[in-house]
Amino acid sequence: MRVAVLRERRGGETRVAATPETAKKLIGMGCTVAVETGAGLASGIPDAQFAEAGAEIAADAASALSGAGLVLKVRAPLAAGEGEVDELSLIPRGAVLIGTLAADRAAAGSYAALGIEACSMELLPRITRAQSMDVLSSQANLAGYRAVIESAAAFDRGFPMLMTAAGTISAANVFVMGAGVAGLQAIATARRLGGRVSATDVRPAAKEEIKSLGATFVGYEDEESKAAQTAGGYAKQLSAEFYAKQAEVVAAHIAKQDIVICTALVQGRKAPTLVTAAMVASMKPGSVIVDIAADAGGNVAVTVPGQAIVTENGVKVLGFHNWPGRIAGASSALYARNLLTFLTTFWDKEAKKPVLNPEDDIVKGVAVTRGGAVVHPSLAAA
Ligand code: NAD
Repeated sequence: MRVAVLRERRGGETRVAATPETAKKLIGMGCTVAVETGAGLASGIPDAQFAEAGAEIAADAASALSGAGLVLKVRAPLAAGEGEVDELSLIPRGAVLIGTLAADRAAAGSYAALGIEACSMELLPRITRAQSMDVLSSQANLAGYRAVIESAAAFDRGFPMLMTAAGTISAANVFVMGAGVAGLQAIATARRLGGRVSATDVRPAAKEEIKSLGATFVGYEDEESKAAQTAGGYAKQLSAEFYAKQAEVVAAHIAKQDIVICTALVQGRKAPTLVTAAMVASMKPGSVIVDIAADAGGNVAVTVPGQAIVTENGVKVLGFHNWPGRIAGASSALYARNLLTFLTTFWDKEAKKPVLNPEDDIVKGVAVTRGGAVVHPSLAAA
């Protein structure tokens, strides 16, 4: 089977869906791998490394996709009118397409119409068996790390307490909002850098995790927050009254922080606004806020998605898009391994191709289309 790996063309996307390591493994499984020229460059992988691993370097998307039975992508392929190439129309009928497609009903409908077997990895169920293919976790982990590193670079003091002959510089107060995968990595990274770290979350399980990493828990808890976690492990949307109480606790704390790392998300909704303009105004000049929830609308009222701004009172707010893409070498490596694990889990050694059993919970989770129809419950027409 021919596997196509395309150069990502969507704005600001620096990652790639395969690496020389995963290409080599796919070749070992009996595939031929065609990598579009330049696909790995923004992740620090030149064509030559793919070629050395045994991949064919294709001159453009059309030649990579010609005859492909499997297409590996980070983001959804471009459709007609979305960019320089209509990638979608070049995907052969019957090919399996794997990526973080973030499809809406219209996109799912076009995959079905084109006979593409689309699997969207961000829909993967959060179950133990799926952990090693969980792209949300692998990418969030690196985003959390990168957020702290960029906050440290933007901060005009330092994280650790520095005792020098010329005097002492105090440690930075770092507050992490949202202690899921990204937030826990942010806590660990900020602690390693020597910051004085506190964190908040609404899920009761997160409180213990925050403490086990050596950070202080700051937050508001009541009967409502005791049930703040869905069966899938995500935070629920909570009442306006709860958010108001939470804001009171946070407001008093934030005024004393040097660095705030925002990672809070509520699945399927706009990210909750946790840091108001008044809270930002209460912070000291030179403080840094990193809003890695920016792609989901942001946790900070003043975030400008995609940009770094400095407020009137001298607070830097980094609201860049695509935080995993800011550490592309590592995020591509983990993303590519996630896809490889998914493929090996469903690999038919005789047929040398993936066989996606529609009854399997993981397949049920990620399958968007099958046999020309939209099959994902959240995307199928009512
Ligand atoms: P996420 O990205 O959806 O959200 C990030 C964090 O924001 C979460 O911890 C959430 O509770 C928090 N949050 C939401 N609203 C908030 C608010 N108002 N104030 C403060 N924090 C708020 O979550 P995630 O990082 O994807 O992780 C969600 C859960 O899934 C965790 O329990 C994690 O351990 C679990 N998980 C399980 C698996 C698996 O078993 N395969 C894989 C990954 C994650």
